[in-house]
Amino acid sequence: MAHLDAYNRPISYLRISVTDRCNLRCVYCMPPEGVPWRPHEEILRYEEIETVVRAAAELGISKVRLTGGEPLVRLGIVDLVRSLARIPGIDDLAMTTNGILLGRYAADLAAAGLRRVNISLDTLRPDRFRRITRLGRMEDVLVGMEAARRAGLEPIKINTVVIRGMNDDEVVDFARKTMETGWNVRFIELMPVGNGVLADGGWREKVVTAREIRQRIEAALGRLEPAKVSVGNGPARCYRLPGAQGTLGFITPISEHFCYRCNRLRLTADGQLRPCLLSDYEIDLRTPLRQGADVAQIKALLLRGIENKPLRHHLDERRRPEKRVMSEIGG
Ligand code: SAM
Ligand code: SF4
Repeated sequence: MAHLDAYNRPISYLRISVTDRCNLRCVYCMPPEGVPWRPHEEILRYEEIETVVRAAAELGISKVRLTGGEPLVRLGIVDLVRSLARIPGIDDLAMTTNGILLGRYAADLAAAGLRRVNISLDTLRPDRFRRITRLGRMEDVLVGMEAARRAGLEPIKINTVVIRGMNDDEVVDFARKTMETGWNVRFIELMPVGNGVLADGGWREKVVTAREIRQRIEAALGRLEPAKVSVGNGPARCYRLPGAQGTLGFITPISEHFCYRCNRLRLTADGQLRPCLLSDYEIDLRTPLRQGADVAQIKALLLRGIENKPLRHHLDERRRPEKRVMSEIGG
């Protein structure tokens, strides 16, 4: 049974950033030159991550997602998946990836016990993909997506951050994909974490709310119907276009915060437990782990994190997290 936090939310989900490094430099996540990588010794070792997940599982956390940075750039990631998949109590092990290396790893990840992947893709146009990610080739992501499908890492979800003036003219094209190819697309509102396009402080003007996206899609393609999603619905509100196989989701941290039903904890790449993405409150797990803390001791620290999980974020009061960029926390 999942533990309840101070506001009666059952905490059942742990997101782990396995590395702060990335093979892309998305404009909303990083500056062009990237962020200084943390030295290797500051990053949690795989056996330390395993201890944290064992402790989490004993507290009733059943769902784990590996993210980053880009999780597939960390050496030995398939071995980590294999060891976490074996932990009793973890029944949903997923990954969020930019997809660039999925063509190479999808089959091995599935064989090691990964269940599902979310793939980030903000545009359907190769030239624009290069502009947004600064380094990547869209073709590699499409190859990765197909490899994931063949490996059974399903349902695949596509994460699309919508930014005014950059890709908001493509929301209808993405919606069409749910009819033509059965993609499950989730539009994410831009958040003020990171220091790419947001460095000038003008992030609010670049946010395109779910309401606006929905209006544009409905004007072009017809009314959205509420959809049931079998697994991993998370914070998204899900819909379907009439007759479409795939779904459309909206993740609205800005226009309609979903803190009251948040079920997650986060672990940063350098071993800090972060009960809320958008609050800088953290508990250090790395130091105790390196001093030999066992599962029981880590469990006590996780419990402290659960008990102190903030009620909600405070972006609307113009308070934004400052300590870290998104690639360290894991999105
Ligand atoms: N590198 C992987 C990827 O891009 O999928 C995993 C890490 S990335 C930080 C996780 C998710 O956070 C991605 O879907 C990304 O689009 C999203 N993200 C990053 N910066 C964001 C921001 N400022 N606002 C909203 N979403 C953001
Ligand atoms: Fe890398 Fe993901 Fe950040 Fe893009 S969003 S720079 S792929 S960590």
